[in-house]
Amino acid sequence: MHNIDDLDVVGRRVLVRSDLNVPFDKSGSGVITDDGRIRASLPVIRKLAGRGARVVVMAHLGRPKGEDFAERAEGGPSLRPVADRLAELLGQPVAFATDLVGQSAAATVAGLADGDVALLENVRFEPAETSKDDVERTVLASALARLGDLYVGDGFGVVHRKQASVYDLPALLPNAAGDLITAEVSVLRRLTQDPARPYVVVLGGSKVSDKLGVIGNLLGLADRVLIGGGMTYTFLAALGHEVGTSLLEADQIGSCKAVLAEAAERGVELVLPTDIVVAPRFAADAPATVVAADAIPADHMGLDIGPASRELFASKLADAKTVFWNGPMGVFEFPAFAAGTRAVAEALTKVDGLTVVGGGDSAAAVRSFGLADSAFGHISTGGGASLEYLEGKTLPGLTALGA
Ligand code: ADP
Ligand code: MG
Repeated sequence: MHNIDDLDVVGRRVLVRSDLNVPFDKSGSGVITDDGRIRASLPVIRKLAGRGARVVVMAHLGRPKGEDFAERAEGGPSLRPVADRLAELLGQPVAFATDLVGQSAAATVAGLADGDVALLENVRFEPAETSKDDVERTVLASALARLGDLYVGDGFGVVHRKQASVYDLPALLPNAAGDLITAEVSVLRRLTQDPARPYVVVLGGSKVSDKLGVIGNLLGLADRVLIGGGMTYTFLAALGHEVGTSLLEADQIGSCKAVLAEAAERGVELVLPTDIVVAPRFAADAPATVVAADAIPADHMGLDIGPASRELFASKLADAKTVFWNGPMGVFEFPAFAAGTRAVAEALTKVDGLTVVGGGDSAAAVRSFGLADSAFGHISTGGGASLEYLEGKTLPGLTALGA
């Protein structure tokens, strides 16, 4: 992987692929509710602009729908509010192009002086960006390549995507990895190559099917795997317990049995909650009670790990030297069911070693508890990308940068 510091950028047009996919207020008022990804993208943009580059940022937002550019641009979401926030945070104007490979982009880029920054409109307004057809993507990448002299990949959250601006474009220009990608990859390497032990993995979140791949690979690396969140119930079902109306992926029970067997065979300690906070329905104000993990009433659902499990998980984390955590332990969005997730987050802050939090909802949970990012070794900006890396998959966006 080439380093950005090796690029001679003065006076050159540098295309930077960032991840600026931020959440917006549901009211449609255009208010950004968490600008963490914009902030995480600033260092590279600042560095390049500071060194006299003409910086052209590309990014996607949401999942635009429509047959062509015109339909998608009409339907949105537009990156314009992101351009405004980026300008605010950078402390310098950000020129905004209303298209990707049309007149606006060409004129905007032509108007840049050394040290200026521009942002192109949502790259997913071009349907070819996410096309499965190599030729379609290459046509778009070639058009984008005409806007720049160099390419910097810095959107870690999209490196697992084989998309035009992530995978095809860097092949057409001299390229380098930005600081965000370099930092993420170096942390993920520490999790996979000779991690300090005990190495404890905590997995939760909603769907076990999303995480089975990573569990499989982590069984070969970790000393202990703690399981919480929605995936708990498919594991409990695999042990023959009643799970009531809890989240259950019946078609994954067999895979969970296989994971339990493999953990036993490899001598990996697989820890499940011993008690569960249950409620009669999925609601913030549903009455919560604690039951044993093998005694969930048929008309109740598990929405968090219980108090004994919180203590158990904290004790299993206390001596860890390396921790990877992905996925909340319960429905932390409802305060009555957030204690399990909070307990794991707090236990991580006390670990004397490398702690890594991956996953958008896990990172949001940590921040909602008011814990500083600096209390953790690393909070990944790319949940899907970090999981695929830990699954041992090759990530197209890293391959394209020579990683
Ligand atoms: P991440 O984004 O960190 O990878 P996921 O997307 O896998 O995490 O899962 C996050 C979601 O899982 C949260 O919205 C949370 O409410 C949900 N969740 C956690 N525990 C449960 C549960 N017991 N029942 C239903 N949903 C749950
Ligand atoms: Mg998520």
